[in-house]
Amino acid sequence: MKITDMTLCGLSSALADKTVSSVEATEACLEAIERKKYLGNFITVCAQSALDCARRADEKRARGEAISPLCGVPLAVKDNIVTADIRTTCASRMLSDFVPPYDAAVVERLKAAGAVILGKTNMDEYAMGSTDETSAFGAVKNASDPARVPGGSSGGSANCVAARQAFGALGSDTGGSIRQPAAYCGVVGLKPTYSAVSRYGLIAHASSLDQIGTLTRDCDDALMFLNAIAGADSRDGTSTGGLRLPDALPSEVRGVTVGIADEFFGTDQLDPRVLSVFESAVKALSCDRVKVKRIKLPTFPVSLAVYYAVSTAEASSNLARFDGVRYGRRGSGRAVDDMMISTRTENFGDEVKRRIMTGGLVLTHGVGGETYYARAAKIRTVITREIEAALCDVDYIISPSTPYLAPLIGEQSDPEKTYVSDMYTVPANLSGLPALGVPCGAADGLPVGMQIIGKRFSEAGMLALGKEVERRCAEYEPRDHAAGTR
Ligand code: GLN
Repeated sequence: MKITDMTLCGLSSALADKTVSSVEATEACLEAIERKKYLGNFITVCAQSALDCARRADEKRARGEAISPLCGVPLAVKDNIVTADIRTTCASRMLSDFVPPYDAAVVERLKAAGAVILGKTNMDEYAMGSTDETSAFGAVKNASDPARVPGGSSGGSANCVAARQAFGALGSDTGGSIRQPAAYCGVVGLKPTYSAVSRYGLIAHASSLDQIGTLTRDCDDALMFLNAIAGADSRDGTSTGGLRLPDALPSEVRGVTVGIADEFFGTDQLDPRVLSVFESAVKALSCDRVKVKRIKLPTFPVSLAVYYAVSTAEASSNLARFDGVRYGRRGSGRAVDDMMISTRTENFGDEVKRRIMTGGLVLTHGVGGETYYARAAKIRTVITREIEAALCDVDYIISPSTPYLAPLIGEQSDPEKTYVSDMYTVPANLSGLPALGVPCGAADGLPVGMQIIGKRFSEAGMLALGKEVERRCAEYEPRDHAAGTR
């Protein structure tokens, strides 16, 4: 087996058995990154520091030092997660030469575990988008079909795992940015419970929604990766140590009931091909150990509007710091105001500007004597209560991860059409609940994802159910477009 075809867990055991070295695995990833450079998955590749780190990991193993399962495993990091001495751009012109002075908490944890950081992955500018086309460093091409987008905003992270350039990647998910690209790329994307993984060092998009999570080839890999990054951190005031995880997933699930809401299908946005793959997957999954029940989530149709009010309001205030004084590439102009105006006009892309302006509007205008933001915050509470109540009746709620298949590059020039791709993913961010995206089949050669939402801190059970989906539903294998072009 080619080294890059191994899973993260497979490589971890091979490293422990010393049948593969970290240097060999790192070289294989760097070779794949170079060979498939045209995909545009990476903004920065750290070849030398990755190889140095791999060498140190091999030496540690040779000395027999007690080490983490991630020691020597090559991974990638989304470019909105800060890395000391490695440029962190958020895929924006604004931060194109920003080298942070410190590591994010998750990066500290990966380094302490001895993981190898290959580089920083491409994304939508400031994690705002669903296609990876808003990057100031160029659009990412889907590894399954380079004419299509990989999804976003963690598109580079999902696509580099699909393209076998890394054994796993960190992403961030504010409204679906891990699960949606996972669906388009045919990989597993996990958004943990809000607070389970520290966001210290994540460049904020919308702080009450943002969560760091993982992109991997399968659910076992997600568990191993999550084990390394979860835990309390006093530097993120929202973080808790509430998540308890086993070292391995059970071989089968028992006595599980999953709910499917009628409202998930009351939309003409749902592509019939996605629906039919999802229905076959549900059929394959249901048995005496997994019962399927229809449920109601009446507020589901308004979730997207609530998400875009809350997220743009928070983004407009989070992005105030990029003014050319505190942060950001400084523009021209002698007076402070002129300088700040040129900094923000020249260095933010169109989508980021649209979000800042929308955010300003929802914070200052409204209906019935309250701002749109205040109204959205109230409805958010209702949405959360409704999902939590549903989760008293069933163990998990499942849906398609996205309403349609990976669009063609350039197909979604209308922002509103793009926003619709998050309709199934935003409720888990609004409620802070954990959610998993797992491949459940393919249509016309393109992967389809199933989303599983669980109770707070139910990640282990959710991944066990995800593994059942992997076992029972048609497995999607990404096509290797670069094969044969070496
Ligand atoms: N696509 C959504 C947005 O553009 C979600 C982004 C995200 O999760 N970072 O806001």
